[in-house]
Amino acid sequence: MDLRRALDQVLANHRKWTEGFGEYAVHESLAVPAEQVEESLDELAERLRDNYPFFHPRYAGQMLKPPHPAAVAGYLAAMLINPNNHALDGGPATAKMEREVVADLAAMFGYDTHLGHLTSSGTIANLEALYVARELHPDRGVAYSADSHYTHARMCRVLGVAGTSVAVDGAGRMDLDALRETLADGRIGTVVVTAGTTGLGAVDPVHEILALCREYGVRVHMDAAYGGFFTLLAGTEGLDPAPWAAIAECDSVVVDPHKHGLQPYGCGAVLFRDPAVGRFYVHDSPYTYFTSEDLHFGEISLECSRPGAAAAALWLTFRLLPPTRDGLGAVLAAGRRAALRWADLIAESEHLRLYQRPELDIVTYYPAVSPASLSAIDAASERVMREGMTDRHNPVYLSVLRADVRSFARRHPEVLADRADARVLRSVLMKPESETHLDPLHARVERLAADN
Ligand SMILES: *Cc1c(COP(=O)(O)O)cnc(C)c1O
Repeated sequence: MDLRRALDQVLANHRKWTEGFGEYAVHESLAVPAEQVEESLDELAERLRDNYPFFHPRYAGQMLKPPHPAAVAGYLAAMLINPNNHALDGGPATAKMEREVVADLAAMFGYDTHLGHLTSSGTIANLEALYVARELHPDRGVAYSADSHYTHARMCRVLGVAGTSVAVDGAGRMDLDALRETLADGRIGTVVVTAGTTGLGAVDPVHEILALCREYGVRVHMDAAYGGFFTLLAGTEGLDPAPWAAIAECDSVVVDPHKHGLQPYGCGAVLFRDPAVGRFYVHDSPYTYFTSEDLHFGEISLECSRPGAAAAALWLTFRLLPPTRDGLGAVLAAGRRAALRWADLIAESEHLRLYQRPELDIVTYYPAVSPASLSAIDAASERVMREGMTDRHNPVYLSVLRADVRSFARRHPEVLADRADARVLRSVLMKPESETHLDPLHARVERLAADN
């Protein structure tokens, strides 16, 4: 998609719309000299050079990539108007778009009923889900796995709810026996499950956890902030469909379109299966809701002002790359294939070791060192990351994950446990271009690891 062409069209359409309202003069206080604009834009570009090339397949580090041009064009088109999706008075058109994209997300997860909205992030979306969890079970706590996102424990503190960490199994998934033990005393009201942990991309056994939670009368919240869109691939290319199908039964679900939905920050989403939870958001706002009797998003969201542009960006993206197996799913499938193939290459490599086989698109690995010890692995991982990043001619950008001694020993008992943890290398292959760029990426990382 040609961004320049799209942006020209956006600006022309915007001009047509504004012209319909008649001439007016922009106030002189807002005027800035043209040559100063040019200079400052160049200065900004210079400042922005201090960034990693998230767009390029040689960046194989964190969960970062630029938005799709469709999202940029959609965002700009609405931002020029700057609607506020708090109230229908603030942005009727983008509020409708928000309703449509949220319905698309609900359908993607198999929800037959839903209440939901976009948020500024996965963290806020999860906060809302845990807030509703607390309102429904005010005297009971929240359990989440040891590998769940760190913000669950933090938000439990914010909400004044007791948070309990549940052990994970040898692949980073919530351990069922540990969960059963945690639920036994009746103090847990909600369990947070994760489809795609942030560190390893592990998928909790959602279907089994659901059954267990139903036995104990406990709610289930699905944190699919990172992994949610992989549900489009469930049952294909060896991705076990059972946990994904079970999301339809979870009481709430969070997904971040600003991770795998090709959106700019900040675009998260929270959906509840029971629309009646909207009652927990009731408030009186004497200055906002006037032009419509319809539900305003501000009446079902903890945040007040929210960008209508975020809804427009996601709406336009879904028009062009719908949340289907062949639409957006094809983007995720390429990254996942790259991750699985890289894992095979690493498994055969003399110079690299696989930390854990990927389930989604996150690969974890470390340089082969001899004798193998946590301290040697930690130092070698750090060195490969640093040397890769600072190489002038052929840089590669990786990230690291800290694995504790117990997690390491479960996967690699032969490694000498001479310290409490070790960093391993971690690559999120969320760009489809990673698939075509995999061989040079592997060769580069292998070379760095070999230079011990
Ligand atoms: C990224 C992430 C979050 C936090 O979302 P933000 O959008 O970064 O606030 C929560 N849970 C999981 C599993 C995540 O990957």
